[in-house]
Amino acid sequence: MKRLLLAIAAALAACGDGGASTSTSTSSAGGAPVEDGAGGSGAAPGAGGGANGENGGASGCVPIEIGGDVASLVQSIADKMDESAGAGSEAFVVPSSKEREAFAAAVVAALLGDDEAGCMLPPSYRWVRLTDPDAGSVEVVAEVDADGVPSPSLHWGTFASLSDLEEAPHRPVAVAAPHPLFDDLTEMQAATIFSRGRARFLAVAGAHRCSNAAEVDCDGKTEVCNDVDDTPMPFRISDAAHAVESPFYAVHARLSDELPDLSFLQVHGFGSTGCFQAVVSDSSGTWPGAGPAAALATELEARDIGVFHCGLDDTGAACPCGETNVEARYSAGSTDACHEVGDDYGRFVHLEQLHTLREPDSAEGQATLEAILAAFEPIGP
Ligand SMILES: [Zn+2]
Repeated sequence: MKRLLLAIAAALAACGDGGASTSTSTSSAGGAPVEDGAGGSGAAPGAGGGANGENGGASGCVPIEIGGDVASLVQSIADKMDESAGAGSEAFVVPSSKEREAFAAAVVAALLGDDEAGCMLPPSYRWVRLTDPDAGSVEVVAEVDADGVPSPSLHWGTFASLSDLEEAPHRPVAVAAPHPLFDDLTEMQAATIFSRGRARFLAVAGAHRCSNAAEVDCDGKTEVCNDVDDTPMPFRISDAAHAVESPFYAVHARLSDELPDLSFLQVHGFGSTGCFQAVVSDSSGTWPGAGPAAALATELEARDIGVFHCGLDDTGAACPCGETNVEARYSAGSTDACHEVGDDYGRFVHLEQLHTLREPDSAEGQATLEAILAAFEPIGP
């Protein structure tokens, strides 16, 4: 049994995509420290994307073995993130395009077991191996020290994969939490889906979506980082679901390219009323008749979770359907995910959930986990 921490403050984190959702104050979402606008010193020096080389000998090139399970590691990283990479912290270090692509290449190579990959990671990142009681042998790329203790400086995210596909069935899906802290509990939910479901990959963004003040010019606006009023504003560069500058996006793109049979599930949280308990979408704007989004909706409803079907239902409320999500657009074939929709949706599932669905110990949380595992069928031995 994993010990999953319940959020105490229990603010209803609202994902908010394109002016939808949220009735709660941004500043209290997710239990993050309230310091919007007060930060400015978070960027760590000296890390920056260079090849690791022999840096320090032990770091980088050779995977380090640590104990514990994936959920515990993700929780410890999230706890550290909450201290140092909250809203207004400016913690997310914006990479150059070259650094971003090199990082994504190294991460994906490590996750796929390339022995050379560790040497290509930036010095603050380590390639970690652990044996999870549910997932089995796992590769992790994370900003941790030689003992596996979180030590972030770039805040580019945490990534994991299964390394023993031949030994047991797995689900060919990458589970991602692009809005840790803000979409309360989603990083832990993603880790649990990864481990319990033996999903092939896990990705958790490395900073609060409102960490940095800098805005991007991608499609869509949101009020979630606006502490002054509810006026929708452009997305922040630290928003891993809306900024193509994000290494999280680059890793997604590379996985999407290299593994054409891989599906993607992004878990989000919202707090608005009028959209039932869950909002399910493939991010196209049209409800798909088949595929993983349709399957997930069916499985949720079979467990008495009320589902808003994007492109099909109309409750009069603005429900968050992820149509400007850059990862969704990329996997749908967009060559400019910031500004253009794709033309071939179906691999990507965007799931927005009320708080109870994300809670590990609630009946709705248990039902949601079961529905997700039922919707993505395992393959392999
Ligand atoms: Zn979200």
